[in-house]
Amino acid sequence: MNWRKELVNSYTRIEDLLSVLELDINQIDQLISTKTYFPFRVTQAYASRIKPRDPNDPLLLQVLPTSGELLSPQNFSDDPVGEEPFKKDSSLLQKYHGRALLVATGACAINCRYCFRRAFPYQHMVKAKALENAIEQISRDLSIKEVILSGGDPLILDDQELETIFESLQRIKHVERLRIHSRLPIVLPSRVTKRFTRLMRDTSLNTSLVVHVNHPNELDNLTIESLRRCKDNGLILLNQSVLLKNINNDIKTLTELSEVLFSAGVLPYYMHLLDRVKGASHFEVSDTEALNLETQLRTRLSGYLMPTFVREIAKKGSKIPLAQI
Ligand SMILES: *Cc1c(COP(=O)(O)O)cnc(C)c1O
Ligand code: SF4
Repeated sequence: MNWRKELVNSYTRIEDLLSVLELDINQIDQLISTKTYFPFRVTQAYASRIKPRDPNDPLLLQVLPTSGELLSPQNFSDDPVGEEPFKKDSSLLQKYHGRALLVATGACAINCRYCFRRAFPYQHMVKAKALENAIEQISRDLSIKEVILSGGDPLILDDQELETIFESLQRIKHVERLRIHSRLPIVLPSRVTKRFTRLMRDTSLNTSLVVHVNHPNELDNLTIESLRRCKDNGLILLNQSVLLKNINNDIKTLTELSEVLFSAGVLPYYMHLLDRVKGASHFEVSDTEALNLETQLRTRLSGYLMPTFVREIAKKGSKIPLAQI
C-alpha cells in the first residue's frame, strides 16, 4: 500500500485501537478524551507492534492519553525549551551556532503524548510563503552551515516537496549539510521510498537522518528493512530517544535499545530528558534517576553505543549533558 493511504488509515479513535488490542476500555486507568487538542493518532504499523491484552505495553503508553495530562506542576510550561524568542522567521528556528532548524510542516504521523509539540503553535509556522521566507533567510546568513528539517515531521511532505527544498538549499553555497529529524521511518516504514533514499544519496549536500526510537519493540522487521534501505544507499543514521517513565527507564531496556539500533544500522545519538511541557509531567524521570541510569548504562555498552544524555535548557547555546546540569 502507498504510504499516504496507509497514513489515512491510521487510528484516530482510541476505542478502535483498544478493540484490536483486545483491551476493554475499563482496563485502562484514567483514559481521557482528546477531541479538542492534540488528538489521538497512531499508525497501523506502530499499533501492530503493541502487545495485545497488555494495558502497560511500553508502546501503548507512548500514545494513550490519560489523566496524567491534566496535571500541571509549576515547572511545566507551554514553551519549555524557549523557542518563542528564537524564531527569526515564521518557520526558522536558530538557537545554536551554525545550525538552523526549518519547521517544514506542523503535522506528524503519530501523536506521542510526551511531545513538546502538544503545546506549541506550529500551525501558523507553516503557512504559505513561510518556507520561501525561511530559505531566503538562510541564504542571507553565512554562518549557517547545516540545515535541519524538522517539524512536526518533515517526511509528512512528499518526495516532490522535499526535492524542491533540497534544490533550494543546494543552491546556497554556505550550506554544506542537510539533516532530517523524522520518526516516520519507524512509525510508517513504507515512507522510506526509493525516491527518498535516492534524493538523500544524490544531493550535493552531506546528509544524515536522525530517527526517533524509544523502545526496542518499536523495531520490527518492516522497520529494520526500511532502515536497511537507507543504509544501502549510504545514509548516515542516528537515533534520538526520550527517557520516559515506565517506558524505557530501566537498564535492560536501554541496553537492548542501543544494541538493537546498531544491528539495524543506526547509532545512538541523544537520550533526551523530557522537555517540561504542560501535560507530560507523568512521563518525567528525575535528574537523579537519569544520571544513575546513564552511569550504569555506560558500564554495559560499548562506548560508541552510548547515547549522550541531554536536556534542552532555554537560552543555552547547545543541549546540555546531564552530568553538567
Ligand atoms: C536540537 C536542536 C538542534 C540540533 O542540535 P544538535 O546538538 O546539533 O543535534 C538545532 N536547532 C535546534 C533549535 C534544536 O532544538
Ligand atoms: S514531533 Fe516526534 S515526538 Fe513529537 S509527536 Fe511528532 S513524532 Fe512524536
